[in-house]
Amino acid sequence: MRVIPKDKVIFHFNTTNKANYTVQDGEVFWVEADDCYSGQITDASVKRPDIDIGIMDCAVGPIDVEGAHPGDTLCVEVLAIDLAPQGVMVTSVGLGVLGDRITEPDTKIIPVHDGFAHFSDTIKIPLTPMIGVMGVAPKSGEIHCAVPDDHGANMDTKLVKVGSRVYFPVNIEGAGLAVGDMHACMGDGELSGTGIEIAGRMCLKVTVYHDRPIQRPVIETFDGIYFLASRSTLNESIKVATADVVEFLMKKLDLSFPDAYRLMSATCDAQICEVVDDNVTVRLHCPKFDTRIQTL
Ligand code: CA
Ligand code: ZN
Repeated sequence: MRVIPKDKVIFHFNTTNKANYTVQDGEVFWVEADDCYSGQITDASVKRPDIDIGIMDCAVGPIDVEGAHPGDTLCVEVLAIDLAPQGVMVTSVGLGVLGDRITEPDTKIIPVHDGFAHFSDTIKIPLTPMIGVMGVAPKSGEIHCAVPDDHGANMDTKLVKVGSRVYFPVNIEGAGLAVGDMHACMGDGELSGTGIEIAGRMCLKVTVYHDRPIQRPVIETFDGIYFLASRSTLNESIKVATADVVEFLMKKLDLSFPDAYRLMSATCDAQICEVVDDNVTVRLHCPKFDTRIQTL
């Protein structure tokens, strides 16, 4: 199976990046990736202010998918995630929702083995491996990989994990997929500003759909369909994702707006993905309560 190495990266998603790799529709492949610090934090002596932030938050790619045209939908299924033997969590002044209470930057190296992140000698936590950055070329302009938006990117969503199907709107020929920023563990919100940041590799399968257009990322799992939105405030993000779910229910179940609006409110959960990036990412969870809403 093809392995895409971690050395060709982008720092911005844009419409003019040239593909570094091309895969076929339906292909399964591995992608290797450094952590979000591009491997600069090798031990606890390296603090967040010491590193070159110019090479942080990159994504491996672009990986063009043969046959993906503007208006199509790209599905990226996560089949496996392999993690490096150690991850890192930094604290730094201003980082995360309580960053005003941090006075000195500090780095903690966290060994990862046997299915656990060994947070300390006495505390170990089960791994919840996930991919922080996954995205495609945006409709227009240039957006730094650290900023999540309608093209995906730094969504820091813990459901971008093994078993999930992540859908993106295709805006350019080939889509321009790029991925990175893996986490060994992360809770909803990413509240201290980071997960357990880690290098590793991910096994992905790409499929192009011509018949299920979307505006923004959608994640499908066994138990539901999640509509994601990333805007500058939580309220704006929730409004955008809610509108997407209501439209989905209207179309799939042939409902009026008020009826779909009611049904959505009775069944769907608003959930937080992350609140620490330049846009706030939320997801609306639509459970698969009807045979007509089993897939996007
Ligand atoms: Ca991230
Ligand atoms: Zn990260």
